[in-house]
Amino acid sequence: MTPYPFTPDETVVVSGIQSSGALHLGNYFGALRQHITLHREHPSYYFIVNYHAMTSLHDRDALLNHTLDAAITYLALGFDPSKGNLFVQSDVPLLNELTWIFFCLTPVSLLEKATSYKDKVAQGLSANCGLFNYPILQASDILIYGGTVVPVGADQKQHIEIARDTAQRFNRVWSPEQPLFPIPDAHIMESVAVVPGIDGRKMSKSYGNTIGIFDEGKQLASRVKRIVTDSTPLEAPKNPDADNVFALIRLFASAEQQSAIREAYLRGGYGYGHAKKVLIELITEYFGEARERRRELLKDMDYVRDVLRQGAINARIRAEACMEKVRELTGLMTTYRV
Ligand code: ADP
Repeated sequence: MTPYPFTPDETVVVSGIQSSGALHLGNYFGALRQHITLHREHPSYYFIVNYHAMTSLHDRDALLNHTLDAAITYLALGFDPSKGNLFVQSDVPLLNELTWIFFCLTPVSLLEKATSYKDKVAQGLSANCGLFNYPILQASDILIYGGTVVPVGADQKQHIEIARDTAQRFNRVWSPEQPLFPIPDAHIMESVAVVPGIDGRKMSKSYGNTIGIFDEGKQLASRVKRIVTDSTPLEAPKNPDADNVFALIRLFASAEQQSAIREAYLRGGYGYGHAKKVLIELITEYFGEARERRRELLKDMDYVRDVLRQGAINARIRAEACMEKVRELTGLMTTYRV
């Protein structure tokens, strides 16, 4: 008998980030910041989800560049490869095998209800099968490493529910006596909820409304300038809680800074232009050190590739142990081993 691959009650942190564009403030506050904290405390598997990115990106060079750039971003923000595993999703192609098995367990009606799929279609993204099945590949991503804690933004809550359902369904059908998959929990920073993009919708690479973590100088200024505000005149009082610029300022400013700016909004005579200037300063300052580290990493791409390679080796070992048990439990016959 193949041994069960996961230790009960072990905390394993797993999460992924798409490489469909440069990582942005929503990714940082919704996910990356927690990834960096958690990988120092528990075993962790963080992957750059290039298969998922393919649901919207079919440009070879862009996919490759964004994948490497995401890895550089993790390292620049303080990911320590001696503490956790960072790798590229497609370096564990075994994932697709588990995804197929999950397809055969999942009612189509469950995926039809996924709001992120419905939102993307409503926004005009073409609905290929990959986009529709996105949450099932994500369930495989989490479950193949025995993930128990999934630090994600609030937009991902429903997808994690689908992963939980999938684990429960598998356990019920194929391993009722001794459950194979732990049931993962979403770990969401409720204080951040969903970071708005420059057009006020959820900030997302798919919507082209992002401010990049490492945007600086003129590029940063031009993105911030385009943040949509209402047309309240400069002199008039403004409601900070209904404003996109203030929503972003809140993420960076200290409590004192926040309450001073809030008062200025309410008092009037404080324009959105002032607020945007403050936002640019806050972003520039906040990511200053990380930006410096990024410049250094860009000169040492061999190091970045080595980190990804080692992460992939560790991830594959764990994924293969899981799949051996999955094949045995489901009755998928294996007649040879390489
Ligand atoms: P995107 O929508 O930009 O492609 P991903 O799907 O790669 O982002 O998401 C990666 C992580 O970043 C997820 O945990 C997701 O919840 C988080 N995230 C993405 N956008 C936001 C946002 N606007 N606010 C909060 N968290 C976000």
